[in-house]
Amino acid sequence: MASERPCPADDFSIYYVLAECTDHYDSSPVKEVEENQPHSQGVTGLRNLGNTCYMNAILQCLCSISPLVEYFLSGKYITALQKDCSEVATAFAYVMTDMWLGDSECVSPEIFRSAFGNLYPAFMKKTQQDAQEFLIYVLNELHESLKKCHRKSCGKGSIPRCCRKTIANEVSIITQLFEGQLNYSIMCLKCENCTYKNEVFTILCLPIPSDYECSLQDCLQCFFQQDTLTWHNQIHCSFCETKQETAVRASISKAPKVIIFHLKRFDILGTMKRKLRTDIHYPLTNLDLSPYICPVFRKHPKYNLCAVVNHFGDLDGGHYTAFCKNSVTQAW
Ligand SMILES: [Zn+2]
Repeated sequence: MASERPCPADDFSIYYVLAECTDHYDSSPVKEVEENQPHSQGVTGLRNLGNTCYMNAILQCLCSISPLVEYFLSGKYITALQKDCSEVATAFAYVMTDMWLGDSECVSPEIFRSAFGNLYPAFMKKTQQDAQEFLIYVLNELHESLKKCHRKSCGKGSIPRCCRKTIANEVSIITQLFEGQLNYSIMCLKCENCTYKNEVFTILCLPIPSDYECSLQDCLQCFFQQDTLTWHNQIHCSFCETKQETAVRASISKAPKVIIFHLKRFDILGTMKRKLRTDIHYPLTNLDLSPYICPVFRKHPKYNLCAVVNHFGDLDGGHYTAFCKNSVTQAW
């Protein structure tokens, strides 16, 4: 059921796909920046420091998400900085400032890399790393640097048990923008006793249901379809007091303002690992997540594409690139 409500033109109707894409990827509506075009705000290259394309691709994406850009450029982050772990967030703010307010067409993320590498030495090596893994660490470090403890009353009673939200007691710009919550309904197929479990997410890892071609919506449908757990995957039912076949279905109980999808291109078939080279089509605007949102919280959120990371190559190596939408020029 599609809502005809116009998509609000605020920064929060953004979605962001962290996709690892195929070599013959050709569906991106990329408008190349002309060679002689004057330097535009926020359209800044990042110097490769030796196999750091994974890092640069992620930094480009994060530095194009408008509410995050606004938070760092306005200096709001300074008041939130935790004294004992501020290096990564400060270095991130330098990259953001250089990219948006500097005169150079290309900046070096060296300070950020060294602050980050002090905490995670693996990322100091001149070897290729996984961009999605790097993103998880960066978001986590930014959260740790910028979090505030927050006590909320839980508001039981009015909200059904299945949709009650987990109470976050640490809030940061990262949780405010990127954190969503999944609700799993777990039903015993013998007695139909239903239990619920909530799980916070920052990245949704989506399966790819085809070897050749599919849409992002097909991947979402596959992720949110009901799964039946049988044999050794059976779950203990507290009512039957034995393990039983169980139906599990996930829905979104809190939709994040910026949603990150990771498309699971690495597949294991027995002992064989392979990269799925499926062409995945996705809308640039108005991605509707309402079919997957818990009815109580259904607000018909629609998302516009903000950035994409692609991986070219295979399991042994390759190259990452990023396509980002600039909030000032609105160009890709
Ligand atoms: Zn049961």
